[in-house]
Amino acid sequence: MKKQLGRFIKQRKQQQMPVVKIAHSVYKDILLTIGARPAESGGILLGPVGTNDVTEFFFDDGGSCTGTTYSPDYVTLRQKMKKEWLPAGIDMKGFVHSHPGSFDHLSSGDMIYINRLLDKNDDMTMFVAPIVIPSQYRLTPLVVLRDKPRVACEAKFEFF
Ligand SMILES: [Zn+2]
Repeated sequence: MKKQLGRFIKQRKQQQMPVVKIAHSVYKDILLTIGARPAESGGILLGPVGTNDVTEFFFDDGGSCTGTTYSPDYVTLRQKMKKEWLPAGIDMKGFVHSHPGSFDHLSSGDMIYINRLLDKNDDMTMFVAPIVIPSQYRLTPLVVLRDKPRVACEAKFEFF
């Protein structure tokens, strides 16, 4: 599985890339859900409050995508946030979703949506938003930084 995960992630060597720590289990779960389906599905990335670490992933069965913009199932996610995640000390770190073809950037719709969430959640220093290209079996590690909210940055994902 480790080998497979390494190939799944497209890492470009760049200096000063933001670093996000992601649990192996999260990658495995993304592969087995979003990575194994046709494009345009997604899920929420979660981790301990007060960090940018991603330790949990919830596949959003009720989410939908229009073109390259992912729309989560707010009702379900809000309920789980209130009843399960926040009581367990974890909150939202971002969203992962897939795009058709080989479009591994955030769409303008994605950027509008991410900026809205950054505005609402002022404790987030970044929004983790990787894009999965199921047909090529790869994931592009992207984040949007609070201090550079208009652009998507390629990030370095570190596994633990
Ligand atoms: Zn998108």
